[in-house]
Amino acid sequence: MRVLHVATEVYPWVKTGGLADVVGALPPALIRAGVDARLFLPGLPGILDGLTDAEPILDLGDAFGATEARVLAGRLADSGVPAYVLDAPGLFDRPGNPYLDENQQDYSDNHRRFALLGWAAARFQHDDWQPDVVHAHDWHAGLVPAWQALAGAPRAASVFTVHNLAFQGLVPAEQAPELGLPSRCFNVDGIEFHGQASFMKAGLYYADRLTTVSPTYATEIQSAPAGVGLEGLLAGRGEAGELVGILNGVDVDVWNPATDTELAAHYDVDHPRPKARNKAALQRALGLADEPDAPLFCLVSRLTEQKGIDLVVAGLDALIAAGGQLALLGSGEPTIEAALEDAAARYPQRVSVTIGYDEALSHRLIGSADFILVPSRYEPCGLTQLYGLRYGTLPVVTQVGGLADTVIDATEQSVADGRATGIVLADVTPEAMDEALRRAIALYRCEKDRQTVSESAMRADFSWQRSAARYIELYRSLLPAEQTAL
Ligand code: ADP
Repeated sequence: MRVLHVATEVYPWVKTGGLADVVGALPPALIRAGVDARLFLPGLPGILDGLTDAEPILDLGDAFGATEARVLAGRLADSGVPAYVLDAPGLFDRPGNPYLDENQQDYSDNHRRFALLGWAAARFQHDDWQPDVVHAHDWHAGLVPAWQALAGAPRAASVFTVHNLAFQGLVPAEQAPELGLPSRCFNVDGIEFHGQASFMKAGLYYADRLTTVSPTYATEIQSAPAGVGLEGLLAGRGEAGELVGILNGVDVDVWNPATDTELAAHYDVDHPRPKARNKAALQRALGLADEPDAPLFCLVSRLTEQKGIDLVVAGLDALIAAGGQLALLGSGEPTIEAALEDAAARYPQRVSVTIGYDEALSHRLIGSADFILVPSRYEPCGLTQLYGLRYGTLPVVTQVGGLADTVIDATEQSVADGRATGIVLADVTPEAMDEALRRAIALYRCEKDRQTVSESAMRADFSWQRSAARYIELYRSLLPAEQTAL
């Protein structure tokens, strides 16, 4: 079975969030399961850096305002996954964030950049390799299923995965003709969304099957507010059995406390003690008080409204009063960054705030802290709570999306049963945050229960193999019987 994944990010070459982790880990997991999975990616500088054995195989000329566009074939350097890269320097050879300019504004030609990606990926085939399934990820690849549907039979099946419905790729009506689609697509039964063209809606409307990254988020987006105006379309596709939630996994080669090269000391579920050395090293490095018995909370996140950082700020006084410490890494909205830096200044030896993006530090925080905070207002899947589970760094999460699907609240009963893996907030409010922090610290102080919960957390299986098997099942359901052999 041949599956072409179309996306704009892939760990470790280009990453702004969880999408990159998924695109970096799912294709290798599919390959291990016997699928011929390949990638189709835009020629962003990081992706071109990661491509080895590149050779040009197709010239696409000057489509969509690119002065030149061609497809390179090669392999990603670390994983060896075969990759086709759309090399269009006029559109993609830009340093920094893949979507935003140096002033953090959307590039004004994003609609043409990702229109080219969609058009080129949907028609892509090479020599005798043509995909059975084209699997497009998030709004940037939303036009792929539209072009596939327009091509008519026979064609590859199309799957579209929503990683975050809030980012939709909206295009003003006057720019819609530049997408190159026939004008009849600019219709409520098509890509039109309240007078604009929507890349996200294109994917949701035209793909044969939709997936999102957790079962709970798949349900949530079929109603307001999580459906952000698309709930009607999503509910219709859900009722037709065409929308499923498949949890993301953890790349266990990248996130493994027994081998993680960023950590001062390695540990695992059977030998958890060395983790204390990581905590001591981190406290020293960040200027936190050298207190082995202080419950250390961490947070690694984009700093946006979605992520509920305001709840952390609101709960900070109580956390500190109870003897806790916080080490935070993130970047995002300036007002949230400023509130956090202010908190760090107020509590010099108890709160450390690092503004920026730092992969190595993210490993050190998660491999050292006792708890990881993920109090999101909504969360399609969430990855840092999964990393926390694997590192015995207990997640403190809200009960939304993938957080609700992956963390089992530590109640008296669930601890006694050996099922508990973290702390779940009863609500998304400062009061619920206070209560959750209080419960987390009480758990920390009860060593026996803490060990039980840590062990269950570290034994929880969120490997990609499980999730890959679900995707394979989905791909198979879309193909004629004679094509379903791997
Ligand atoms: P989202 O995709 O909404 O940002 P996820 O939890 O799905 O949230 O994925 C976020 C990914 O980005 C995780 O791998 C997390 O470790 C990483 N990450 C987020 N912020 C930072 C940061 N400031 N430095 C390093 N890694 C970060």
